[in-house]
Amino acid sequence: MLNALGQNVSATIDAGSVDALIDSIAIPAFVIDRGHVITHWNKALAKTACLPSEIMIGTNHQWRPFYGEPRPTMADLIIDGTIEGAVEHFYGGKYKPSDVLDGAYVAEDFFPDIGIEGEWLSFTAAPIRNQEGNLVGAIETLVMISDRKKAEMELIEREKRYRELSTIDSLTQLYNLRQFHLELAKELERFRRYQQGFSLCMLDLDHFKRLNDNHGHLFGDKVLEGVGKLISTYLRSVDNAYRYGGEEFVILMPQVDETKAQIGIQRICKELNDLTFETDAGEQIQITASAGLAVVSESDTDKTLLAKADEAMYEAKAKGRNRIQIWSGSETLNGESPSH
Ligand code: GH3
Ligand code: MG
Ligand code: MG
Repeated sequence: MLNALGQNVSATIDAGSVDALIDSIAIPAFVIDRGHVITHWNKALAKTACLPSEIMIGTNHQWRPFYGEPRPTMADLIIDGTIEGAVEHFYGGKYKPSDVLDGAYVAEDFFPDIGIEGEWLSFTAAPIRNQEGNLVGAIETLVMISDRKKAEMELIEREKRYRELSTIDSLTQLYNLRQFHLELAKELERFRRYQQGFSLCMLDLDHFKRLNDNHGHLFGDKVLEGVGKLISTYLRSVDNAYRYGGEEFVILMPQVDETKAQIGIQRICKELNDLTFETDAGEQIQITASAGLAVVSESDTDKTLLAKADEAMYEAKAKGRNRIQIWSGSETLNGESPSH
């Protein structure tokens, strides 16, 4: 045969060139026969796994680059014909049938022992059939996808951050009102379904208008920021605090009775009393808060429960502020939202 330059070339790609062909693929790959013995371990895989073909071919150690102890690879499961059942067990949820090859499966996983810091691999295992259609082996190819995975994870992280920003009040760093309504609805649902009670506390800073008037709005902001920090510091880990608006906060306290809820709020109020804020003029300012506490009852809706906590909070104000009042009214609240 003459080539384009008129030179005589007799070489062709024939069946005997299969080894060379598999070695020339830039994608790591191995082939096993029906007895699970490695027949091909290409150069790309030898380099990636740091395991030369001489020590791998003829063995059934195809698991070695990927796992700490012997276990079937996807190629083994294809040979055994158990792929459909077993792949779920070995690759739980992280595999799917290939879009391009009949009988082949694709999975993604992280392999800590490959490379310096581990690698994310996408691997495809496909059956190899002879001309009669009989299964004679299986080939597994591996694509390194760490860069793509890293980009995906960064995107997930950014989305998470964005979601946080849209649920958190920027001044106090507590959850915002929108988040409060979502969580209150969830708590009420839990109460209805599983009888898990909870308490709701409404906490309002005392004479905050006066503080703004005397020391300026910026100083008021500094105080709100400090109060937010204090509340999250002294909250029980199961409780959640929200900025309800202005200088008002709400705290959802799951699974506590009246007494325990009161103790929790008392602690916050005490710490608040001990906190001092320094004005630009060097004056030390202390603040107090009034709190209203309501424990959910069978007939409560979000509106009635909020109205109870609000009513109790106003009672605390009326009794002289800087105190906690537990709602003790009758169940005839008309469900109106707090009107301030
Ligand atoms: P009370 O003890 O009865 O609660 O009196 P108060 O002055 O705290 O209550 P009032 O509702 O009369 O005033 C609330 C003040 O809170 C008025 C408003 O300017 C201030 N405020 C609300 N949001 C902010 C804010 O984001 N920053 C600052 N600095 N002040 C705020
Ligand atoms: Mg208020
Ligand atoms: Mg106030």
